[in-house]
Amino acid sequence: MSTPAARPTTSPTVLALDVGGTDIKAAVVGEHGMVVRTTVPTRTADREPLDSVLLAAHRLWESVPAGYHVTGLGIATPGIVDDEDGVVRGAENLGWREVPLRSLLEEELGVPVGIGHDVRAGGLAEWRLGAGRGAGDHAFVAVGTGIAASVVLHGAVYAGGGWAGEVGHGGRTTGEPCACGGRGCIETYASAAGIARRYTARTGVHVPGAREVLERAQAGDVVAADVWAHGVDGLGELVAGLVRTLGLRLVVVGGGLVRAGDALLDPLDAAVRRYLTVHPVPELRPAGLGSDAGTYGAALLGWGASGRGTLTDLVVPV
Ligand SMILES: [Zn+2]
Repeated sequence: MSTPAARPTTSPTVLALDVGGTDIKAAVVGEHGMVVRTTVPTRTADREPLDSVLLAAHRLWESVPAGYHVTGLGIATPGIVDDEDGVVRGAENLGWREVPLRSLLEEELGVPVGIGHDVRAGGLAEWRLGAGRGAGDHAFVAVGTGIAASVVLHGAVYAGGGWAGEVGHGGRTTGEPCACGGRGCIETYASAAGIARRYTARTGVHVPGAREVLERAQAGDVVAADVWAHGVDGLGELVAGLVRTLGLRLVVVGGGLVRAGDALLDPLDAAVRRYLTVHPVPELRPAGLGSDAGTYGAALLGWGASGRGTLTDLVVPV
């Protein structure tokens, strides 16, 4: 008498890629969290960013452990990203213009691909898995090398054709020249990079980042204190603008600058209050996923593309 052959049962996973200017963070993400993770330099002497994306995807695929199978891929990139068409309209630091990333990857790998903007993906992850879990309408503001926001409205991350949340540039006509061609953009003085650069410009002292400016301010350096306060004031004006436009009651603050903790959030709360009169002051909440937010966001995009809907029970190490 023969017994039916045992059907192999494997668990679904997605490949998740978070493309940054320096590194691509890559992970195989299963239903209960990351299974494998690795990093690939975005650009080397003999490799362009698109080739690095393909390399990272193939390397991940080959690293999927026994007992798992790949159902999709999610990728988060900087720039102007049209999530619906699956096209990166432009990403200056990657040298991309009108790159049909979704169809390229689907042809290469043969699985469904979801693509999205890195900060919107990070906001998606914070909403589903991190500090914004369970929240209604709210914003995620990421302050790192640049500044961008992701807005959750009516139960979805609002993309605006790729333009929503691109708050780092524009809005001023005077001030320090910005890489975008404008002047006085908030990124020039309130991003982590901008705070460090402004301190160096005023003192001639090179500092590696905003953290050192904060440390100097806390040690009594009046220029450092002024540069820090000016940056935080700008962020307060920015958050207040989101609240004034959208009536948000919660703003999750992420990106590298939030590692300063209360040294950022306390004066930021005061700054937001300065720029609001009739509106309720929103709760400011530090992000929960740190530098993994983009990778988890990419994984969620991959799960969505694979038709498995949303994933809300990932076990995320905190
Ligand atoms: Zn600018």
